[in-house]
Amino acid sequence: MSKQFTEKKTVLVLFHNDLRLHDNATLHKAAALADEGKLILTFAPTLADDLQSKNWSQAYSFDKKGPARQQFIDESLADLDKSLQSLGNRLLYLTSEQLLQIIESQGVSYICVSQTADYAQNVAYEALQDKYPQISWHYQATATLFATMPTKDLPQSFTQFRKKVEYSHDLLSASADLDSCQTPVTLAPLPTSLASNDEYYFKVPPFDEQPNEPAQLEPNFKSGETEALAHLQHYFDSDAPSSYKVTRNAMDEWSHSTKFSPWLANGSLSVKTVLNRLRHYEREVVANESTYWIWFELLWREYFYWYAMTHQKNLFLFQGISDKKPPTRYHQERLEQWQQGKTAYPIINACMQQLNHTGYMSNRGRQLVASCFIHELGLDWRYGATYFEQQLIDYDVASNWGNWQYLAGVGADPRGCRQFNLKKQTQQHDPNGEFRDKWLA
Ligand SMILES: Cc1cc2nc3c(=O)[nH]c(=O)nc-3n(C[C@H](O)[C@H](O)[C@H](O)COP(=O)(O)OP(=O)(O)OC[C@H]3O[C@@H](n4cnc5c(N)ncnc54)[C@H](O)[C@@H]3O)c2cc1C
Repeated sequence: MSKQFTEKKTVLVLFHNDLRLHDNATLHKAAALADEGKLILTFAPTLADDLQSKNWSQAYSFDKKGPARQQFIDESLADLDKSLQSLGNRLLYLTSEQLLQIIESQGVSYICVSQTADYAQNVAYEALQDKYPQISWHYQATATLFATMPTKDLPQSFTQFRKKVEYSHDLLSASADLDSCQTPVTLAPLPTSLASNDEYYFKVPPFDEQPNEPAQLEPNFKSGETEALAHLQHYFDSDAPSSYKVTRNAMDEWSHSTKFSPWLANGSLSVKTVLNRLRHYEREVVANESTYWIWFELLWREYFYWYAMTHQKNLFLFQGISDKKPPTRYHQERLEQWQQGKTAYPIINACMQQLNHTGYMSNRGRQLVASCFIHELGLDWRYGATYFEQQLIDYDVASNWGNWQYLAGVGADPRGCRQFNLKKQTQQHDPNGEFRDKWLA
Protein backbone atom coordinates (compact mmCIF):
# COMPACT_ATOMS: atom_id res chain seq x y z
CA MET A 1 0.00 0.00 0.00
CA SER A 2 1.24 3.51 -0.72
CA LYS A 3 2.15 5.81 2.19
CA GLN A 4 -0.82 7.99 1.33
CA PHE A 5 -3.19 5.20 2.34
CA THR A 6 -1.40 4.00 5.45
CA GLU A 7 -0.72 7.38 7.05
CA LYS A 8 -3.26 8.25 9.69
CA LYS A 9 -4.57 11.77 9.67
CA THR A 10 -4.55 14.12 12.62
CA VAL A 11 -7.58 16.37 12.52
CA LEU A 12 -8.14 19.34 14.80
CA VAL A 13 -11.46 21.05 15.40
CA LEU A 14 -11.54 24.62 16.64
CA PHE A 15 -14.93 25.06 18.24
CA HIS A 16 -16.20 28.64 18.27
CA ASN A 17 -19.93 29.41 18.03
CA ASP A 18 -20.93 25.82 17.28
CA LEU A 19 -21.01 24.26 20.77
CA ARG A 20 -23.17 21.24 19.97
CA LEU A 21 -23.35 17.73 18.58
CA HIS A 22 -26.69 17.96 16.77
CA ASP A 23 -26.63 19.32 13.22
CA ASN A 24 -22.94 20.09 13.51
CA ALA A 25 -21.47 19.68 10.03
CA THR A 26 -18.02 20.70 11.31
CA LEU A 27 -17.88 17.81 13.74
CA HIS A 28 -19.19 15.39 11.11
CA LYS A 29 -16.60 16.56 8.60
CA ALA A 30 -13.79 16.21 11.15
CA ALA A 31 -15.00 12.76 12.21
CA ALA A 32 -15.07 11.62 8.59
CA LEU A 33 -11.61 13.03 7.86
CA ALA A 34 -10.09 11.50 10.98
CA ASP A 35 -11.64 8.14 10.20
CA GLU A 36 -9.27 5.84 12.03
CA GLY A 37 -6.72 8.58 12.69
CA LYS A 38 -6.62 11.07 15.55
CA LEU A 39 -9.11 13.73 16.43
CA ILE A 40 -8.31 16.75 18.63
CA LEU A 41 -11.30 18.81 19.75
CA THR A 42 -10.38 22.24 21.07
CA PHE A 43 -11.71 25.56 22.28
CA ALA A 44 -9.24 28.44 22.43
CA PRO A 45 -11.12 31.40 23.93
CA THR A 46 -8.51 34.11 23.40
CA LEU A 47 -7.41 33.16 19.89
CA ALA A 48 -9.05 36.17 18.23
CA ASP A 49 -7.44 38.59 20.70
CA ASP A 50 -4.03 36.95 20.59
CA LEU A 51 -3.73 36.58 16.81
CA GLN A 52 -5.36 39.85 15.87
CA SER A 53 -3.96 41.52 12.79
CA LYS A 54 -1.66 44.40 13.63
CA ASN A 55 -3.61 46.84 11.52
CA TRP A 56 -6.98 46.06 13.03
CA SER A 57 -8.32 46.01 16.49
CA GLN A 58 -11.69 46.89 17.90
CA ALA A 59 -10.76 49.89 19.97
CA TYR A 60 -13.84 50.26 22.16
CA SER A 61 -13.38 47.34 24.43
CA PHE A 62 -14.56 47.20 27.99
CA ASP A 63 -14.05 43.80 29.56
CA LYS A 64 -15.14 41.63 26.61
CA LYS A 65 -17.16 39.11 28.56
CA GLY A 66 -19.07 40.15 31.64
CA PRO A 67 -19.77 37.51 34.32
CA ALA A 68 -23.16 36.46 32.88
CA ARG A 69 -21.86 35.90 29.37
CA GLN A 70 -18.75 34.16 30.67
CA GLN A 71 -20.83 31.85 32.85
CA PHE A 72 -23.23 31.02 30.01
CA ILE A 73 -20.35 30.08 27.71
CA ASP A 74 -18.46 28.10 30.36
CA GLU A 75 -21.50 26.04 31.23
CA SER A 76 -22.19 25.42 27.53
CA LEU A 77 -18.62 24.15 27.17
CA ALA A 78 -19.10 21.87 30.18
CA ASP A 79 -22.17 20.35 28.54
CA LEU A 80 -20.34 19.91 25.24
CA ASP A 81 -17.39 18.27 26.99
CA LYS A 82 -19.72 15.84 28.73
CA SER A 83 -21.32 14.87 25.41
CA LEU A 84 -17.94 14.46 23.71
CA GLN A 85 -16.73 12.26 26.57
CA SER A 86 -19.74 10.01 26.12
CA LEU A 87 -18.47 9.51 22.54
CA GLY A 88 -14.94 8.64 23.64
CA ASN A 89 -13.19 11.97 23.07
CA ARG A 90 -13.17 15.22 25.05
CA LEU A 91 -12.81 18.98 24.82
CA LEU A 92 -9.40 20.59 25.26
CA TYR A 93 -9.55 24.14 26.61
CA LEU A 94 -6.42 25.89 25.42
CA THR A 95 -4.50 29.11 25.57
CA SER A 96 -3.44 30.25 22.12
CA GLU A 97 0.12 29.23 22.95
CA GLN A 98 -0.97 25.71 23.91
CA LEU A 99 -2.97 25.47 20.68
CA LEU A 100 0.09 26.30 18.59
CA GLN A 101 2.20 23.79 20.55
CA ILE A 102 -0.36 21.06 19.92
CA ILE A 103 -0.66 21.86 16.21
CA GLU A 104 3.11 21.50 15.92
CA SER A 105 3.77 18.58 18.28
CA GLN A 106 0.89 16.47 16.93
CA GLY A 107 1.57 17.20 13.26
CA VAL A 108 -1.98 18.35 12.62
CA SER A 109 -2.84 17.91 8.95
CA TYR A 110 -6.45 19.14 8.85
CA ILE A 111 -8.26 21.90 10.72
CA CYS A 112 -12.06 21.98 10.72
CA VAL A 113 -13.97 25.11 11.69
CA SER A 114 -17.43 26.54 11.30
CA GLN A 115 -17.88 29.48 8.99
CA THR A 116 -18.30 32.58 11.13
CA ALA A 117 -19.33 36.19 10.65
CA ASP A 118 -17.00 37.14 13.51
CA TYR A 119 -14.40 39.30 11.81
CA ALA A 120 -11.78 39.01 14.56
CA GLN A 121 -12.08 35.22 14.60
CA ASN A 122 -11.60 35.11 10.82
CA VAL A 123 -8.49 37.29 11.12
CA ALA A 124 -7.14 34.74 13.62
CA TYR A 125 -7.89 31.84 11.24
CA GLU A 126 -6.03 33.65 8.46
CA ALA A 127 -3.04 34.17 10.75
CA LEU A 128 -2.98 30.41 11.50
CA GLN A 129 -3.20 29.62 7.81
CA ASP A 130 -0.23 31.89 7.10
CA LYS A 131 1.74 30.26 9.90
CA TYR A 132 0.96 26.68 8.86
CA PRO A 133 0.45 26.65 5.07
CA GLN A 134 0.77 22.84 4.98
CA ILE A 135 -2.49 22.35 6.90
CA SER A 136 -5.66 21.84 4.94
CA TRP A 137 -8.67 23.85 6.24
CA HIS A 138 -12.32 22.85 6.02
CA TYR A 139 -15.12 25.34 6.65
CA GLN A 140 -18.74 24.29 7.22
CA ALA A 141 -21.78 26.53 7.56
CA THR A 142 -23.32 25.77 10.94
CA ALA A 143 -24.61 29.17 12.12
CA THR A 144 -26.93 29.99 9.26
CA LEU A 145 -29.79 28.50 7.27
CA PHE A 146 -27.86 28.84 4.02
CA ALA A 147 -24.45 27.41 3.16
CA THR A 148 -23.72 30.44 0.99
CA MET A 149 -25.34 33.85 0.76
CA PRO A 150 -28.88 33.21 -0.51
CA THR A 151 -28.87 36.29 -2.76
CA LYS A 152 -26.29 37.17 -5.41
CA ASP A 153 -25.35 40.42 -3.70
CA LEU A 154 -26.54 41.59 -0.33
CA PRO A 155 -29.60 43.83 -0.82
CA GLN A 156 -29.38 47.23 0.87
CA SER A 157 -32.39 46.62 3.05
CA PHE A 158 -33.83 43.75 5.05
CA THR A 159 -37.14 43.95 3.17
CA GLN A 160 -35.47 43.44 -0.21
CA PHE A 161 -33.45 40.56 1.25
CA ARG A 162 -36.52 38.90 2.78
CA LYS A 163 -38.54 39.19 -0.42
CA LYS A 164 -35.78 37.68 -2.52
CA VAL A 165 -35.18 34.83 -0.09
CA GLU A 166 -38.87 34.08 0.29
CA TYR A 167 -39.37 34.15 -3.45
CA SER A 168 -36.44 31.96 -4.40
CA HIS A 169 -36.13 29.47 -1.55
CA ASP A 170 -38.43 26.66 -0.64
CA LEU A 171 -39.04 27.48 3.01
CA LEU A 172 -39.13 23.84 3.94
CA SER A 173 -35.90 22.98 2.21
CA ALA A 174 -33.85 24.25 5.14
CA SER A 175 -34.78 21.10 7.00
CA ALA A 176 -34.21 18.68 4.15
CA ASP A 177 -30.45 18.39 4.43
CA LEU A 178 -30.58 18.12 8.19
CA ASP A 179 -30.93 14.40 8.45
CA SER A 180 -27.34 13.56 7.59
CA CYS A 181 -26.10 15.76 10.44
CA GLN A 182 -28.64 14.50 12.96
CA THR A 183 -27.25 10.98 12.83
CA PRO A 184 -24.93 10.16 15.73
CA VAL A 185 -21.31 10.88 15.00
CA THR A 186 -18.48 8.43 15.67
CA LEU A 187 -15.37 10.10 17.00
CA ALA A 188 -11.79 8.92 16.63
CA PRO A 189 -9.89 9.11 19.93
CA LEU A 190 -7.59 11.80 21.23
CA PRO A 191 -3.89 11.09 20.68
CA THR A 192 -2.64 9.20 23.76
CA SER A 193 -0.04 11.84 24.63
CA LEU A 194 -2.82 14.43 24.96
CA ALA A 195 -5.27 12.13 26.69
CA SER A 196 -2.75 11.53 29.45
CA ASN A 197 -2.21 15.26 30.07
CA ASP A 198 -5.04 16.69 32.10
CA GLU A 199 -3.66 20.23 32.03
CA TYR A 200 -5.56 20.70 28.74
CA TYR A 201 -8.86 19.28 29.92
CA PHE A 202 -11.79 21.61 30.13
CA LYS A 203 -12.70 22.25 33.76
CA VAL A 204 -15.77 24.14 34.90
CA PRO A 205 -14.35 27.23 36.55
CA PRO A 206 -15.34 27.59 40.20
CA PHE A 207 -17.71 30.51 39.72
CA ASP A 208 -17.73 31.42 43.40
CA GLU A 209 -13.96 31.93 43.28
CA GLN A 210 -14.06 34.34 40.35
CA PRO A 211 -13.14 37.97 41.00
CA ASN A 212 -16.59 39.13 39.85
CA GLU A 213 -19.88 38.48 41.59
CA PRO A 214 -21.52 35.34 40.18
CA ALA A 215 -24.13 36.28 37.58
CA GLN A 216 -27.84 36.02 38.35
CA LEU A 217 -28.98 34.54 35.06
CA GLU A 218 -32.72 34.41 34.41
CA PRO A 219 -33.29 30.95 35.88
CA ASN A 220 -34.84 29.64 32.66
CA PHE A 221 -31.67 30.32 30.71
CA LYS A 222 -29.84 27.10 31.44
CA SER A 223 -26.72 26.81 29.34
CA GLY A 224 -25.69 24.11 26.91
CA GLU A 225 -27.03 21.97 24.12
CA THR A 226 -29.01 19.63 26.38
CA GLU A 227 -30.97 22.53 27.86
CA ALA A 228 -31.28 24.24 24.47
CA LEU A 229 -32.99 21.20 22.97
CA ALA A 230 -35.21 20.85 26.03
CA HIS A 231 -36.25 24.51 25.75
CA LEU A 232 -36.93 24.11 22.02
CA GLN A 233 -39.13 21.11 22.69
CA HIS A 234 -40.95 22.86 25.51
CA TYR A 235 -41.56 26.00 23.46
CA PHE A 236 -43.08 24.13 20.53
CA ASP A 237 -45.09 21.88 22.84
CA SER A 238 -46.74 25.02 24.23
CA ASP A 239 -49.26 27.41 22.67
CA ALA A 240 -46.75 30.27 22.70
CA PRO A 241 -45.75 30.06 19.00
CA SER A 242 -49.34 30.62 17.90
CA SER A 243 -49.49 34.03 19.59
CA TYR A 244 -45.86 35.13 19.16
CA LYS A 245 -46.67 38.12 16.96
CA VAL A 246 -48.98 39.65 19.57
CA THR A 247 -46.76 38.98 22.57
CA ARG A 248 -43.24 39.42 21.19
CA ASN A 249 -42.91 43.07 22.24
CA ALA A 250 -43.41 42.39 25.94
CA MET A 251 -40.61 43.74 28.11
CA ASP A 252 -40.26 40.92 30.58
CA GLU A 253 -42.27 37.77 30.13
CA TRP A 254 -40.52 34.44 29.55
CA SER A 255 -43.00 32.91 27.11
CA HIS A 256 -43.72 36.10 25.15
CA SER A 257 -40.84 35.61 22.76
CA THR A 258 -38.94 32.45 21.87
CA LYS A 259 -35.81 33.12 24.01
CA PHE A 260 -33.77 31.05 21.56
CA SER A 261 -31.12 33.77 21.17
CA PRO A 262 -28.54 32.81 23.85
CA TRP A 263 -28.32 29.23 22.60
CA LEU A 264 -28.31 30.32 18.95
CA ALA A 265 -25.52 32.80 19.70
CA ASN A 266 -23.00 30.26 20.95
CA GLY A 267 -24.31 27.55 18.68
CA SER A 268 -25.57 25.17 21.33
CA LEU A 269 -28.76 25.33 19.26
CA SER A 270 -28.82 25.03 15.47
CA VAL A 271 -30.96 27.52 13.59
CA LYS A 272 -31.84 24.81 11.06
CA THR A 273 -33.17 22.68 13.89
CA VAL A 274 -35.27 25.64 15.05
CA LEU A 275 -36.71 26.10 11.57
CA ASN A 276 -37.35 22.40 11.32
CA ARG A 277 -39.37 22.47 14.56
CA LEU A 278 -41.23 25.59 13.45
CA ARG A 279 -42.29 23.93 10.16
CA HIS A 280 -43.33 20.84 12.08
CA TYR A 281 -45.49 23.00 14.38
CA GLU A 282 -47.05 24.67 11.35
CA ARG A 283 -47.91 21.30 9.82
CA GLU A 284 -49.14 19.61 12.98
CA VAL A 285 -50.63 22.42 15.11
CA VAL A 286 -51.24 25.71 13.36
CA ALA A 287 -49.67 27.95 10.73
CA ASN A 288 -50.69 31.58 11.28
CA GLU A 289 -49.34 35.13 11.26
CA SER A 290 -47.47 34.46 14.49
CA THR A 291 -45.63 31.39 13.26
CA TYR A 292 -44.79 33.31 10.09
CA TRP A 293 -43.37 36.05 12.28
CA ILE A 294 -40.92 33.70 14.00
CA TRP A 295 -39.57 32.88 10.55
CA PHE A 296 -39.53 36.63 9.77
CA GLU A 297 -37.35 37.29 12.82
CA LEU A 298 -35.04 34.39 11.99
CA LEU A 299 -34.60 36.05 8.62
CA TRP A 300 -33.46 39.25 10.38
CA ARG A 301 -30.81 37.12 12.01
CA GLU A 302 -29.83 35.78 8.59
CA TYR A 303 -29.74 39.24 7.12
CA PHE A 304 -27.33 40.51 9.76
CA TYR A 305 -25.18 37.38 9.40
CA TRP A 306 -24.67 38.01 5.68
CA TYR A 307 -24.42 41.75 6.32
CA ALA A 308 -21.47 41.13 8.68
CA MET A 309 -19.92 38.71 6.20
CA THR A 310 -20.21 41.35 3.48
CA HIS A 311 -19.08 44.44 5.37
CA GLN A 312 -16.43 42.81 7.56
CA LYS A 313 -14.52 45.40 9.60
CA ASN A 314 -16.83 48.22 8.45
CA LEU A 315 -19.28 46.74 10.95
CA PHE A 316 -17.26 48.49 13.65
CA LEU A 317 -16.74 51.90 11.99
CA PHE A 318 -18.34 55.03 13.44
CA GLN A 319 -19.84 55.93 10.04
CA GLY A 320 -20.76 52.27 9.52
CA ILE A 321 -21.41 51.54 5.87
CA SER A 322 -22.52 55.12 5.21
CA ASP A 323 -20.21 57.95 4.20
CA LYS A 324 -21.15 60.28 7.06
CA LYS A 325 -20.17 60.22 10.72
CA PRO A 326 -23.10 60.71 13.11
CA PRO A 327 -23.26 63.93 15.18
CA THR A 328 -22.67 62.08 18.46
CA ARG A 329 -19.62 61.56 20.64
CA TYR A 330 -18.05 59.87 23.64
CA HIS A 331 -19.10 61.34 27.00
CA GLN A 332 -17.96 59.41 30.04
CA GLU A 333 -20.53 60.62 32.57
CA ARG A 334 -23.53 60.03 30.32
CA LEU A 335 -22.17 56.65 29.30
CA GLU A 336 -21.87 55.59 32.93
CA GLN A 337 -25.36 56.84 33.76
CA TRP A 338 -26.76 54.75 30.92
CA GLN A 339 -24.72 51.67 31.87
CA GLN A 340 -25.78 51.87 35.51
CA GLY A 341 -29.43 52.64 34.77
CA LYS A 342 -29.22 56.16 36.21
CA THR A 343 -30.54 58.29 33.37
CA ALA A 344 -33.51 60.64 33.53
CA TYR A 345 -35.69 57.96 31.86
CA PRO A 346 -37.16 55.28 34.18
CA ILE A 347 -37.99 52.88 31.33
CA ILE A 348 -34.36 52.97 30.20
CA ASN A 349 -33.10 52.51 33.75
CA ALA A 350 -35.34 49.49 34.25
CA CYS A 351 -34.10 47.91 31.01
CA MET A 352 -30.47 48.50 31.95
CA GLN A 353 -31.01 47.01 35.42
CA GLN A 354 -32.57 43.97 33.78
CA LEU A 355 -29.57 43.64 31.46
CA ASN A 356 -27.04 44.11 34.26
CA HIS A 357 -28.72 41.54 36.48
CA THR A 358 -29.69 38.86 34.00
CA GLY A 359 -27.60 39.25 30.83
CA TYR A 360 -30.80 39.53 28.79
CA MET A 361 -33.08 42.30 27.55
CA SER A 362 -36.16 42.11 25.32
CA ASN A 363 -35.94 43.26 21.72
CA ARG A 364 -38.18 46.25 22.51
CA GLY A 365 -35.95 47.15 25.46
CA ARG A 366 -32.85 47.00 23.27
CA GLN A 367 -34.42 49.30 20.71
CA LEU A 368 -35.38 51.82 23.39
CA VAL A 369 -32.04 51.89 25.22
CA ALA A 370 -30.12 52.14 21.95
CA SER A 371 -32.35 54.94 20.69
CA CYS A 372 -31.93 56.81 24.00
CA PHE A 373 -28.16 56.26 23.90
CA ILE A 374 -27.89 57.80 20.44
CA HIS A 375 -30.57 60.53 20.54
CA GLU A 376 -31.32 61.67 24.08
CA LEU A 377 -27.76 61.13 25.34
CA GLY A 378 -25.99 61.96 22.06
CA LEU A 379 -23.43 59.18 22.52
CA ASP A 380 -21.17 57.41 20.03
CA TRP A 381 -23.13 54.20 19.27
CA ARG A 382 -20.01 52.00 19.29
CA TYR A 383 -19.71 52.29 23.08
CA GLY A 384 -23.29 51.10 23.46
CA ALA A 385 -22.64 48.15 21.15
CA THR A 386 -19.50 47.29 23.10
CA TYR A 387 -21.34 47.41 26.41
CA PHE A 388 -23.94 45.02 24.97
CA GLU A 389 -21.09 42.77 23.86
CA GLN A 390 -19.91 42.57 27.44
CA GLN A 391 -23.30 42.07 29.07
CA LEU A 392 -25.57 40.06 26.76
CA ILE A 393 -25.59 36.30 27.15
CA ASP A 394 -26.87 36.17 23.57
CA TYR A 395 -24.15 38.47 22.24
CA ASP A 396 -23.68 37.79 18.57
CA VAL A 397 -21.28 39.93 16.60
CA ALA A 398 -23.50 40.24 13.51
CA SER A 399 -26.87 40.79 15.21
CA ASN A 400 -25.46 43.18 17.78
CA TRP A 401 -23.34 45.44 15.62
CA GLY A 402 -25.81 45.23 12.71
CA ASN A 403 -28.74 46.31 14.89
CA TRP A 404 -26.75 49.13 16.49
CA GLN A 405 -25.66 50.43 13.07
CA TYR A 406 -29.25 50.22 11.91
CA LEU A 407 -30.53 52.29 14.83
CA ALA A 408 -27.65 54.77 14.58
CA GLY A 409 -28.61 55.46 10.96
CA VAL A 410 -25.28 54.26 9.56
CA GLY A 411 -26.37 50.77 8.54
CA ALA A 412 -29.05 48.93 6.66
CA ASP A 413 -32.00 51.21 7.37
CA PRO A 414 -33.27 53.00 4.27
CA ARG A 415 -35.25 55.40 6.53
CA GLY A 416 -32.13 56.65 8.29
CA CYS A 417 -31.81 57.18 12.02
CA ARG A 418 -34.77 55.99 14.12
CA GLN A 419 -35.74 57.73 17.34
CA PHE A 420 -38.30 56.16 19.65
CA ASN A 421 -40.61 58.41 21.66
CA LEU A 422 -39.78 57.16 25.14
CA LYS A 423 -42.91 58.56 26.77
CA LYS A 424 -45.22 56.92 24.25
CA GLN A 425 -43.27 53.67 24.33
CA THR A 426 -43.49 53.57 28.12
CA GLN A 427 -47.26 54.04 27.99
CA GLN A 428 -47.59 51.36 25.35
CA HIS A 429 -45.29 48.67 26.76
CA ASP A 430 -45.37 49.29 30.51
CA PRO A 431 -48.72 51.03 31.08
CA ASN A 432 -49.07 49.98 34.73
CA GLY A 433 -45.41 50.41 35.60
CA GLU A 434 -44.96 46.76 36.58
CA PHE A 435 -41.74 46.40 34.64
CA ARG A 436 -40.28 49.60 36.11
CA ASP A 437 -41.40 48.64 39.63
CA LYS A 438 -39.73 45.26 39.33
CA TRP A 439 -36.34 46.48 38.15
CA LEU A 440 -36.15 49.82 39.92
CA ALA A 441 -37.19 48.54 43.34
C1 LIG B 1 -29.43 47.24 19.68
C2 LIG B 1 -29.73 45.77 19.52
C3 LIG B 1 -28.75 44.83 19.78
C4 LIG B 1 -29.01 43.45 19.61
N1 LIG B 1 -28.03 42.54 19.89
C5 LIG B 1 -28.28 41.22 19.68
C6 LIG B 1 -27.27 40.24 19.94
O1 LIG B 1 -26.13 40.54 20.32
N2 LIG B 1 -27.60 38.93 19.76
C7 LIG B 1 -28.83 38.53 19.32
O2 LIG B 1 -29.08 37.33 19.18
N3 LIG B 1 -29.78 39.45 19.03
C8 LIG B 1 -29.55 40.77 19.21
N4 LIG B 1 -30.55 41.68 18.95
C9 LIG B 1 -31.79 41.22 18.32
C10 LIG B 1 -32.95 40.87 19.27
O3 LIG B 1 -33.15 41.88 20.20
C11 LIG B 1 -32.73 39.53 20.00
O4 LIG B 1 -32.37 38.52 19.08
C12 LIG B 1 -34.00 39.07 20.71
O5 LIG B 1 -34.44 40.06 21.61
C13 LIG B 1 -33.71 37.77 21.45
O6 LIG B 1 -34.83 37.32 22.16
P1 LIG B 1 -35.67 36.10 21.60
O7 LIG B 1 -34.79 34.96 21.29
O8 LIG B 1 -36.79 35.86 22.54
O9 LIG B 1 -36.19 36.71 20.22
P2 LIG B 1 -37.49 36.38 19.38
O10 LIG B 1 -38.32 37.63 19.30
O11 LIG B 1 -38.17 35.19 19.86
O12 LIG B 1 -36.92 36.12 17.90
C14 LIG B 1 -36.57 34.81 17.45
C15 LIG B 1 -35.13 34.83 17.00
O13 LIG B 1 -35.01 35.68 15.85
C16 LIG B 1 -33.77 36.36 15.88
N5 LIG B 1 -34.01 37.81 15.95
C17 LIG B 1 -35.10 38.44 16.45
N6 LIG B 1 -34.99 39.77 16.30
C18 LIG B 1 -33.80 39.99 15.70
C19 LIG B 1 -33.11 41.16 15.26
N7 LIG B 1 -33.61 42.39 15.41
N8 LIG B 1 -31.89 40.99 14.72
C20 LIG B 1 -31.34 39.76 14.55
N9 LIG B 1 -31.96 38.63 14.93
C21 LIG B 1 -33.17 38.74 15.48
C22 LIG B 1 -33.04 35.87 17.12
O14 LIG B 1 -32.19 34.82 16.74
C23 LIG B 1 -34.16 35.38 18.01
O15 LIG B 1 -33.75 34.39 18.93
C24 LIG B 1 -30.30 43.05 19.14
C25 LIG B 1 -31.28 44.02 18.90
C26 LIG B 1 -31.01 45.35 19.10
C27 LIG B 1 -32.10 46.37 18.82
